[in-house]
Amino acid sequence: MSELIAAEGLSRHFELGGGQRLHAVDDVNLAVAAREIVGLVGESGSGKSTFGKTLLGLYPKTSGKVRYRGETLPDRYRPADFRRLAKNMQMIFQDPYSSLNPRMTVGEIIGEGLRLHSDLSSRQINSRVADWLDQVGLSGDHGSRYPHEFSGGQRQRIGIARALILEPEFVVCDEPVSALDVSVQAQVINLLGGLKESLGLTMLFIAHDLSMVRHVSDRMAVMYLGSLVEIGSADAVYFEPKHPYTELLVASNPEPDPAVERNRESAAIRGEIPSPVNIPAGCRFASRCPKVMPVCREVTPELIPVQDATRQVACHLYS
Ligand code: ADP
Ligand code: MG
Repeated sequence: MSELIAAEGLSRHFELGGGQRLHAVDDVNLAVAAREIVGLVGESGSGKSTFGKTLLGLYPKTSGKVRYRGETLPDRYRPADFRRLAKNMQMIFQDPYSSLNPRMTVGEIIGEGLRLHSDLSSRQINSRVADWLDQVGLSGDHGSRYPHEFSGGQRQRIGIARALILEPEFVVCDEPVSALDVSVQAQVINLLGGLKESLGLTMLFIAHDLSMVRHVSDRMAVMYLGSLVEIGSADAVYFEPKHPYTELLVASNPEPDPAVERNRESAAIRGEIPSPVNIPAGCRFASRCPKVMPVCREVTPELIPVQDATRQVACHLYS
């Protein structure tokens, strides 16, 4: 497994004023191999988007580092770093309604990255844009129209073309279909899967829907309150969750296959996610964990291998 990108002890905090500090992402270690898809799941507010943006340098790092092809990237990007790295790393955003500039034509939106980051002529850029409209299932004359003329699914196709026209190696897909109707989600996922194969992409795929993440990912990482609690092969984490939080997350996920029965009443995760401004001592999940033990409120469990090296869990039940 050859590593493409890795977070090492990566943290991103936000200063809220009044001396308050919000720990959105805390000390995350995660290496992604070339051409691998790692799914990242966890409740809303657990730090998934912040992790993705910090990995790409869209947020400066509070501490820790990001390694890309063996090179340690700067803590805080300058314009030259963005220019150099944008070709290699891109993000596909959750909301295709707010992430496309309404005053630009679709062709301008898709071609913008090439205008900023390549030496191609306008004629060459236009021809690449036409090619990408086709690759994402839109027609050539769509390039002269504006985003509001398109449906949510079509807008997300535009967002995908905009990100991938630079032929990046690494893409963070941040809930790329959760704003879309269920009926078009599968189409967009299939489009991404096909492009992943043809372009040899490496991805961090952030999503709410665990069964979808299992379907598209090689490995699955579970985040709770800014911290990774479990990681392993997507099937293993989904079918044999080990961390009590993962168990509850899987059990409360809508099951697409009605043949698989689950006890829904036991599935709700009780209580609220604690404030990331006041991180509790010990295990971050202790206040909501049905299997909590005294040690959990005092000692922070490390993410350690369980069974084999590919499966890691941060829970005192396994230490
Ligand atoms: P997720 O994507 O898992 O829903 P986020 O990364 O969006 O989680 O948020 C993690 C935590 O960081 C939340 O408590 C959120 O309110 C906070 N947060 C995110 N972005 C900012 C910001 N720019 N300023 C302050 N707090 C933020
Ligand atoms: Mg998010």
